[in-house]
Amino acid sequence: MRLVDSHCHLDDHQFDADREDTIARARAAGIETMLAIGTGDGPPDLEAAVRLAEGHECIFATIGVHPHDAAKAGEDTFARLERLISHPKVKAVGEIGLDYHYDFSPRNVQRAVFERQLALAASAGLPVVIHTREAWADTLSILRAAAPRAGIMHCFTGDAEQAREALDLDFHLAFGGVLTFPRAEEVREAARLTPDDRLLVETDCPYLAPVPHRGRRNEPAFMVETVRRLAEIRGSTPEEIAEITTRNFDRLTSPS
Ligand SMILES: [Zn+2]
Ligand SMILES: [Zn+2]
Repeated sequence: MRLVDSHCHLDDHQFDADREDTIARARAAGIETMLAIGTGDGPPDLEAAVRLAEGHECIFATIGVHPHDAAKAGEDTFARLERLISHPKVKAVGEIGLDYHYDFSPRNVQRAVFERQLALAASAGLPVVIHTREAWADTLSILRAAAPRAGIMHCFTGDAEQAREALDLDFHLAFGGVLTFPRAEEVREAARLTPDDRLLVETDCPYLAPVPHRGRRNEPAFMVETVRRLAEIRGSTPEEIAEITTRNFDRLTSPS
């Protein structure tokens, strides 16, 4: 079984004591490829994931400014992103989007920084990894206008209708640990209706560990629990889920 964790924060300080062991456990569990999300602590550091990817063949990177950190982005940030985007291990721009739950940055600033990064991804022909929380309508209208080449709704926790809206935009839906939570029936319904060629899996580690690890620090190796549950939900097998999600990731991240 060859799996791809399409969203992990391996640079997080929670991995400082055992990062290499964590990566080794992932590979032993069949997670052969990891997409490290490079948003880190926000600008001025934009290379949290690039550094990891440079040191590991199995790790690819994204670059981007998280909506939480939008207010920290200046002209120097965008200039640096433009230079980093052609790095051979950078496979996507993300996670970018809107977070109206925490509102750590003013909403108008979040929207402007989101739009600018969508334009940057489009100019490089790269897919985008979207974070959206309590901001579904604004996220969709910005994405409709920007029409990115391809994209991932990361940690998809919407319902069936939102899943259809994202799928109508040609987006991929990435499911994580939430899928295994007892009360996440709406998310499971969304996972059931997602076509094979739009399905991805992720951990979002160190956050959102799947059952039976819920509440603990999450890590890529735990993704096998999500894959098992996803297979049950879809009347499939973990092997088949691994095959289709890996194929989707490879297609999504190969040059257009
Ligand atoms: Zn996120
Ligand atoms: Zn994340």
